[in-house]
Amino acid sequence: MSQNNTHQLKGSEIIFLSKKPESHPKIIEYLKTHGHTLQIKQALEDPGNSDVILIEANFSYFSIFKFLKRLQSAQSTACILLMGESELKTGRISALLRAGVFDYLKHPYPLNRLGKAIRKGLKNRENLLNILSLSEHLEAANQSLSKERDQLKTWNNDLSELYALNQKLSESLHIDEIVKTSISNISKVIKHDISCLYLKKWKQVRIATSHPQSSDLIKKVKEETLQDGLEFIKDEESVSQALVRHGGSEIMVHLSVGIRKIGLLRLVRLPDASPQHGQGEPSLSENKASTPFSEYQAKILSMTAIPLAIAIRNAEMYKQVEDLAVKDALTNVLNRRAFSGILDREFRRASRYNSPLSLMVIDLDHFKKVNDTYGHLVGDTVLRELAAELNASLRDIDVLIRYGGEEFVVILPGTHLQAGLVVANRIKTRVEKTLFDQKNIPIKMTVSIGVAHYPSPQIDSPEALFNQADQALYTAKKNGRNRIMILKSLKTSEWPALAFEKQSMA
Ligand code: GH3
Ligand code: MG
Ligand code: MG
Repeated sequence: MSQNNTHQLKGSEIIFLSKKPESHPKIIEYLKTHGHTLQIKQALEDPGNSDVILIEANFSYFSIFKFLKRLQSAQSTACILLMGESELKTGRISALLRAGVFDYLKHPYPLNRLGKAIRKGLKNRENLLNILSLSEHLEAANQSLSKERDQLKTWNNDLSELYALNQKLSESLHIDEIVKTSISNISKVIKHDISCLYLKKWKQVRIATSHPQSSDLIKKVKEETLQDGLEFIKDEESVSQALVRHGGSEIMVHLSVGIRKIGLLRLVRLPDASPQHGQGEPSLSENKASTPFSEYQAKILSMTAIPLAIAIRNAEMYKQVEDLAVKDALTNVLNRRAFSGILDREFRRASRYNSPLSLMVIDLDHFKKVNDTYGHLVGDTVLRELAAELNASLRDIDVLIRYGGEEFVVILPGTHLQAGLVVANRIKTRVEKTLFDQKNIPIKMTVSIGVAHYPSPQIDSPEALFNQADQALYTAKKNGRNRIMILKSLKTSEWPALAFEKQSMA
């Protein structure tokens, strides 16, 4: 017997189950002297903590079989040994071996054979326990792996949403589209109730919410965001990471490109609704709990800040270029390039909806003299101030265009001739009264205005409308300037009760 084997034999809990244990004094003696703790029972019982269960087959075969099944279902790890008379049927022995018996000892039970069986059984049991403990570790590792896999899956999903957002943002140059895309993609990754985007260039807050009914709340959130935005613009040190605020119910990220501040994005979570308490309108009150934003969500939001800021900046620049293409640099009103498109659109609208449309061509009288007398720069100032005076005389829906030089066109949608003439008269009087370039030499100017309107018999196209107003202007100039003209072809009944002159087309 090796040292190792001796050591394994000692100190094990052994239970000996026999109807007549007193028939086996040698076995009992042997086990005790080999250092085991021995319990002897005359019934098939297991106290639950035995290392070895030695069963003498003087119980009935069925009761032993049932006992083994009980041990199995209690997940007993004990090593089970069976000793019995040699006449026990072979089929039954193998059934008991299959039901968990480790070894079968035949009468007359030589003690060295018993010792060997116990040692082998204990070794086998140790291996089994090692396997069980390994499989527990494996189970724990599996659980943590599956948790990590779920987390990776979430990250993967979120990252692909962010990638999709980046793609969409890089494809768009229009601010409305950028706002819509970013808000809808962000809400797929970070659940929230209200999102606000403060845009510095547009001086406004765009808001999106699934609670459109709570208008007071929305107003409050909008005002707060505007305030946050203005503070961010003022603040010298821009912060690019997302800030989780108000106990986690809000998350805010500053949008900037380099040192250029673009705006900010704020997501708000409202207190969780609890209908059983009869909670009505959601509110931002501090004492109700909302599910807080996590650090992970803050990280995700700050990852969207850079592409979003760049997309907004691109849209700003695109708008600037677009404005440059259609706006006159000196007076900042629309230029001739924008004119025909707008006139076409308004003429089509007027003819489709059978609504009136007036158009006037305005030209400064003797403007060349201003340039000749005071210089071109003073002339420029006069033109800028004239544009401002014209704008101030018009409604929002009227369109002012610098047609060229000192000639302006005004399109008046939904305006009959009479109302158009009222506007023309207002402009003429206003210009007469204005002192241009007051800072240097106050200059007095007058304008001549040709007016045409649609519907009218000779006008079947936008070009015809413009030409008629232009001809009327030409006649106003010929007739002495500082006056408003329409063409004579208009029926007398259409003449407005105003002091203006008319001229035959012929
Ligand atoms: P009329 O009453 O017949 O319209 O006489 P006018 O002098 O106003 O018209 P004319 O066509 O003889 O001269 C227009 C002048 O407007 C000539 C041109 O140098 C000047 N002008 C055109 N564009 C600008 C501009 O952008 N700035 C300045 N300062 N002058 C301009
Ligand atoms: Mg002129
Ligand atoms: Mg002119």
